Amino acid sequence: MRIETLAVHAGHSVDPSTGAITPPIQLSTTFERSEDGSYPRGHLYSRVSNPNREALEHCLSKLEGGSATAAFASGSAATMSIFQSLSPQDHVLAPKDAYHGTAKLLTEIFIPWGLAVTFVDMTDLDQVHAAIRPNTKLIWTETPSNPLLKITNIPEVANLAHHIGAQCVCDNTWATPVLQRPLEQGADLVLHATTKYLGGHSDVLGGAVIAKVEDFFFQKIRTVQQTGGAVPSPFDCWLTLRGIRTLPYRMRAHSENALKIAQFLDQHPTVEKVYYPGLQQHPGHNLANQQMKLFGGMLSFQVAGGQNRAMEVCSKVKLFTRATSLGGTESLIEHRASMEGPKTQTPDNLLRASVGLEHIEDLIEDLGQAL
Ligand code: PLP
Repeated sequence: MRIETLAVHAGHSVDPSTGAITPPIQLSTTFERSEDGSYPRGHLYSRVSNPNREALEHCLSKLEGGSATAAFASGSAATMSIFQSLSPQDHVLAPKDAYHGTAKLLTEIFIPWGLAVTFVDMTDLDQVHAAIRPNTKLIWTETPSNPLLKITNIPEVANLAHHIGAQCVCDNTWATPVLQRPLEQGADLVLHATTKYLGGHSDVLGGAVIAKVEDFFFQKIRTVQQTGGAVPSPFDCWLTLRGIRTLPYRMRAHSENALKIAQFLDQHPTVEKVYYPGLQQHPGHNLANQQMKLFGGMLSFQVAGGQNRAMEVCSKVKLFTRATSLGGTESLIEHRASMEGPKTQTPDNLLRASVGLEHIEDLIEDLGQAL
């Protein structure tokens, strides 16, 4: 089945007790045992599983082409579950420009806990190869990356990981399974902040880990989920699943609008540089063309005149909202370096935009007057 059909139907069935087309939200935290003590309807206690989470996990497995999914209360909780499934002394390779929250988790929680971590330029395969150690157990990729939109070669990095028996993870939050299918390209696990495009309406936090194979490593992730309990509520799962129903159509419109804005900014005299993999001069353009269907709804740009000018542009937008996060129907703009804190490597005149679903001419007019 095609992704549009899966997005509408996967994890969906008419409620047998009422005939309701829209699934009910099952708030019960506990479920009835049968006389022999078993759980014939599959659920025991809501931290372990519940019908809304089961539906969401089933849908995500179908969309990514995986065999199992563990849903979490946020993208960061899902990220943590992967690192928690490693052992102290294991070595992880992560991109230098990983989402700053992922880098923070590694440096502030998992390095003190015992993981060894090397941050590399994941787009430079020689550098990745040279950083591998005998105890490397996991290579983390994020493509396109945040906020510089770097494109990592998923099959090549997965090959390097598999050569040494390590796992390759791809944070597919920005591309979504509509634009990029990391499990088909060699990754073992996909990470999502469902908070973003999958939920799609800036109204629900969530995360998920999707596994190609339900192996021993995934079983550990499942244990972290069910025993640690950083799980999404039934309502969170319901909202996320509702968002997913329109995901393929939203991703196309986000990508179409973002490409036009990138082209507009690229021609603008007060814009120094545009980061969007859909532009031919982007260093990852050819690779993105191979491993993505479209180029997504995120872009960054540097404003000529430094940080003050970038802040001024941000203060003048009327339709874009100044806010962090991404993936909702509304367009957002953000001065990224001040969000990432003093250790950031992000240029201080860089603005990141999450391009929404408004009419393209209205968005371009708004950026035009602000610039
Ligand atoms: N991964 C990426 C690429 C993100 O952009 C984010 C959040 O911005 C996360 C993970 C973390 O997700 P959450 O905010 O739901 O914890």
